[in-house]
Amino acid sequence: MTLRPILIHPDPRLKSTADPVADVDKGVRALADDMLETMYDAPGIGLAAPQIGILHRMLVMDCVKDEMATPEPMVLINPRVLSSSEETNVYDEGCLSIPDQYAEVERPASVKVEWTDLDGKTVQQDFNGLWATCVQHEIDHLNGKLFIDYLKPLKRQMITRKMQKLKREIARGNA
Ligand SMILES: [Zn+2]
Repeated sequence: MTLRPILIHPDPRLKSTADPVADVDKGVRALADDMLETMYDAPGIGLAAPQIGILHRMLVMDCVKDEMATPEPMVLINPRVLSSSEETNVYDEGCLSIPDQYAEVERPASVKVEWTDLDGKTVQQDFNGLWATCVQHEIDHLNGKLFIDYLKPLKRQMITRKMQKLKREIARGNA
């Protein structure tokens, strides 16, 4: 397993539509391991492949926040939302590609999602609570969409400028 560097917004790869995964092979399983390790190390509750510069429709998540509880790592390949609830939920979202920035985003409170698992089997599951927010946030990444795209332009520009500054500092070796 290898820790992968996480891309920071703005980056063209974070604005791209990812391609479907054709085969769940050894390479895909190794990538899933790397993504989970990178997510837990960050730490974060979700990570999509484009965030490590790989434009494949694949994401990992684990929304168990209690450190004493058993982890529930999930790997979703080619996920798609089959249905969404009318009821919505507002959550203060953050993103590993937009460090230390949080903002309220309104999304459907529950969603039914279908995906391919690591055995190549098709799986369907209903998500609600934090899991619903997380899976929608991660699927957005596969479509080149970030949570700040839901915010008013002024707020989005403010966050983007902060991230540009952060990236300049990282490039200079000051962060
Ligand atoms: Zn994110």
